[in-house]
Amino acid sequence: MNQAKRIKPIQWLLVSGGLLLLLLVFFPRSPRPPDLEISQLIQLAEAGQIAKIQVRGDKLEVMSIDGETFRSRKESSVSVLELLDQRGIATGTGGIQVDVKEEGRSFFSTLFSIMPLVIFGGLIFYMIRRSRSGLSQVMGIGKSQARLVTDKPSVTFQDVAGAEEAKQELVEIVEFLREPEKFARLGAKVPRGVLLTGAPGTGKTLIGRAVAGEAGVPFFSVSGSEFVEMFVGVGASRVRDLFARAKEAAPAIVFIDEIDAVGRHRGAGIGGGNDEREQTLNQILVEMDGFDERTNVIVIAATNRPDVLDPALLRPGRFDRRVVLDLPDIKGREAILAVHLRGKPILDDVDIPTLARQTHGFSGADLANLVNEAAILAARQEKSATSLEDLEEAIDRVIAGPARRSRHVSEKEREIVAYHEAGHALVAASLPNADTVHKVTIVPRGSAGGYTRLLPDEDRGLWSKGQFEAMMAVMMGGQVAEEFALGDITTGASNDLKNASEVARKMVTEYGMSEELGPRSFDTGQDMVFLGKELAQGHNYSDAIAEKIDAEIGSLLHKAQQTAKKALETNKARLTLLANKLLSDETIEGPELQQLLNGAVERAPMSP
Ligand code: ADP
Ligand code: MG
Ligand code: ZN
Repeated sequence: MNQAKRIKPIQWLLVSGGLLLLLLVFFPRSPRPPDLEISQLIQLAEAGQIAKIQVRGDKLEVMSIDGETFRSRKESSVSVLELLDQRGIATGTGGIQVDVKEEGRSFFSTLFSIMPLVIFGGLIFYMIRRSRSGLSQVMGIGKSQARLVTDKPSVTFQDVAGAEEAKQELVEIVEFLREPEKFARLGAKVPRGVLLTGAPGTGKTLIGRAVAGEAGVPFFSVSGSEFVEMFVGVGASRVRDLFARAKEAAPAIVFIDEIDAVGRHRGAGIGGGNDEREQTLNQILVEMDGFDERTNVIVIAATNRPDVLDPALLRPGRFDRRVVLDLPDIKGREAILAVHLRGKPILDDVDIPTLARQTHGFSGADLANLVNEAAILAARQEKSATSLEDLEEAIDRVIAGPARRSRHVSEKEREIVAYHEAGHALVAASLPNADTVHKVTIVPRGSAGGYTRLLPDEDRGLWSKGQFEAMMAVMMGGQVAEEFALGDITTGASNDLKNASEVARKMVTEYGMSEELGPRSFDTGQDMVFLGKELAQGHNYSDAIAEKIDAEIGSLLHKAQQTAKKALETNKARLTLLANKLLSDETIEGPELQQLLNGAVERAPMSP
């Protein structure tokens, strides 16, 4: 980009030079006419009126004996002396004094004569320059664009909250680089590669940058996608260059973010175009093998798709250490919220543990986004600090998109939505295995007409079959309530049905929760990782089993619908009460909601 800036003065020179040339051509100098014709000069000289003649080329400066000066011209071929001689006029002492001076060149004539040279010179210079820079651009392509992070980045481990194990692991690795002797003495080998894995937004890039802040050794950072460029073979040479630079700077850390961009399974996928990536990957493998015992370079890579990585990357001697960054648990969310709320103006009513409890399943990035959204909401209302209300609204936004209060909703539609949401809430309240209802609203949000937010009582890593069944029943609750109250069903339940079907499918094919099919995992090819591979393989069971799976999913969903129906039947009066409350208040939460729902649990202790 600065190429353009550099040629600017040259272009300017060319243009102004051209203009000047035009001026000179169209307005040539018109020399002033001489005061004296040469013939007159000779007459005067013969008359003895002339004292002195100064010669400059063809120009003559004539001084009369009275002290007057005139200008005159002669032919270029003849000399003044000869001319005077021929007439018998004396020159030198006693006669006319003739002075021959060097011919002075005028500024314009000089410019005129060298101008073409300057212009052509400039043009040639410009052309060479251009072709050179083009050349050097091509030559520079194989150079890696890894940034050497030299000055301490602003991010340190302090900014990474919650991921204690990951931090611990990385601290050890940094120690390896700082004091290699300590480990060598005991015969421990420096680890070659560390693979950071985890869902998007769990802080992989963040922790990678934090290592640079903590390392105290040169840190080369590059993103996998930067290797993949339009020129074939470039990726590989970039890798070579990157590792050469790192080895020179050893002890050093190389950080490859998003390594799945180059490190995918070789030989997978449809069609060509993978050669480039494969070569790049091969080069990474070659470079990592090329480290000898004493090379103090550690490669840290990050990916959210460890499952698609080529197995060769993961074998010992390469990325043999794995650091997993999980979605944060409740304590982790508290810590992350604290980090992001630190130093921001917040009201006293903001209670971090409560927020952490409401944000189950949020990643670090979601939480950072949540805090930011809340601050934006507060700023829009000209508030001086963020309140709990802003933060809760932001949670809804992150989950379901911004509220759309302006959308016009007909009375009929509001009623449908109110019954639908009340149905979800009541089914949840009446099933012991379902999560607690936290908030019910009919304010349209994102693409949903309203929504019911459930809150798990604790963080859970494991789900029981009973919890899944309750969850599906809650999902069915919306449509069942519509049918009960209005005698008809609407399209509003499409998302609920989709989610419920997905849960049922996973129960049958992944979790072995179907009595009919037993404890077996079926690869249905739903999570298509590489289109090519999956297409080639198809599913790993017979068509008869496929039919059984279908039937089983159907029966699970049907059972869930029956559960929802029973629950709402028992609580029919309460359903109307809740729906009417929603129609008047739009949103119900907190103690009021608990009061409305508590009775439901007592009256109908359902077991699915
Ligand atoms: P990833 O690379 O895993 O997809 P990032 O590292 O880019 O995720 O995280 C995105 C943002 O989320 C970070 O810039 C940071 O603001 C926030 N974040 C994620 N995890 C954490 C954490 N453990 N502590 C503090 N902030 C976090
Ligand atoms: Mg990242
Ligand atoms: Zn619904």
